[in-house]
Amino acid sequence: MAGNVTFRQDRCKGCGLCVHVCPVKIIFLDQEVTNRKGYHPATIVEMDKCIACANCARMCPDSIITVERL
Ligand code: SF4
Ligand code: SF4
Repeated sequence: MAGNVTFRQDRCKGCGLCVHVCPVKIIFLDQEVTNRKGYHPATIVEMDKCIACANCARMCPDSIITVERL
């Protein structure tokens, strides 16, 4: 199972919960980007490793993550 994950980065508060629950450790807080709320938003490297478990989407307190099963 592969996945495509998108974040509404402008609404991310950089809490890092999604980072910790990803079993394949592909989510990180992008230190190069500051959103309009003043946080470093979550993003993904190596999307091809995503297993579409949706742990990240379930954990996000603000429901800003969408996981598409490919
Ligand atoms: S769906 Fe699962 S594997 Fe994919 S980024 Fe989210 S937590 Fe990680
Ligand atoms: S859990 Fe949601 S608000 Fe927290 S860092 Fe991840 S995407 Fe951002």
